[in-house]
Amino acid sequence: MLAQRTLKSLTKAVGVGLHSGQRVELTLRPAAPDTGIVFRRVDLPQPVDIVISAQAVTDTRLASTISSGSAKVHTVEHLMSACAGLGIDNLYVDITAEEVPILDGSASSFVFLLQSAGIALQVAPKRFIRVIKPVEVREGEGANTKWARLSPYEGYKLSFEIDFDHPAVDSTGQRVEFDMGSGAYTRDIARARTFGFTKDVEMMRANGLALGGGLDNAIVMDDYKVLNSDGLRYNDEFVKHKILDAMGDLYLIGKPLLAAYGAFRSGHAMNNKLLRELLAHKDAYEVVTFEDEKKAPQGFATLARAW
Ligand SMILES: [Zn+2]
Repeated sequence: MLAQRTLKSLTKAVGVGLHSGQRVELTLRPAAPDTGIVFRRVDLPQPVDIVISAQAVTDTRLASTISSGSAKVHTVEHLMSACAGLGIDNLYVDITAEEVPILDGSASSFVFLLQSAGIALQVAPKRFIRVIKPVEVREGEGANTKWARLSPYEGYKLSFEIDFDHPAVDSTGQRVEFDMGSGAYTRDIARARTFGFTKDVEMMRANGLALGGGLDNAIVMDDYKVLNSDGLRYNDEFVKHKILDAMGDLYLIGKPLLAAYGAFRSGHAMNNKLLRELLAHKDAYEVVTFEDEKKAPQGFATLARAW
């Protein structure tokens, strides 16, 4: 049987929120089979649980925000991406503020935390959502077109194309394809950092956003070039970060997908719209398990390699 996974022990991290600039403590804890991933706001007078789901996503401006009643957690996508990449099914995420810490701006710190805690197999079959009919969402016309789609594929692969007209981005790859079957998530995707432009950052700061952002947790560009003295971690780091984000956004559906995801200029809003479109078409997907783990697609049966 291909089994569900959680952590062997708990692990903690302290950081700041990208937008709030607020100090936040994160505790990742093992959870029982079929719990799913549950964020718990432990700073509130009565702790509030927010169970991830496509419907729990209530705001997608700048980052993916989940909520339950008035309790919120912003910027969940990089931690969710690490969980998707390592195949974590069940996890409690205790958090002391409204935003997940940005750490180094990628998913690699979360991967490191999860792997340090150790990954445990559980006595319950891992459940996948297998896409059996294509679904697509699309917005805008001509130069403003953007779209995202899920198509049947016995495995999980993502392809993303960005279209940024900026000297520092033009010279890098703007399209990338990543297949989970390669087993290379931690090496090839997890280290890609979020990115921003100084002029947007100034505007966001004036509006009380990006207060925790800087050169140590983002690629920052002026009108011409990358300002980080160490340059890029991958020559196509920008579009790889979009794959990282998409993996996190899509994992909010609560189960790993068996599908091919393709997107052009998509973002958090459109990724969530795509999940809702899929769930609205009951004939477009089925929930499956693998009695014989040898029959499971590559990249899911074996635990992700350590560094
Ligand atoms: Zn991101």
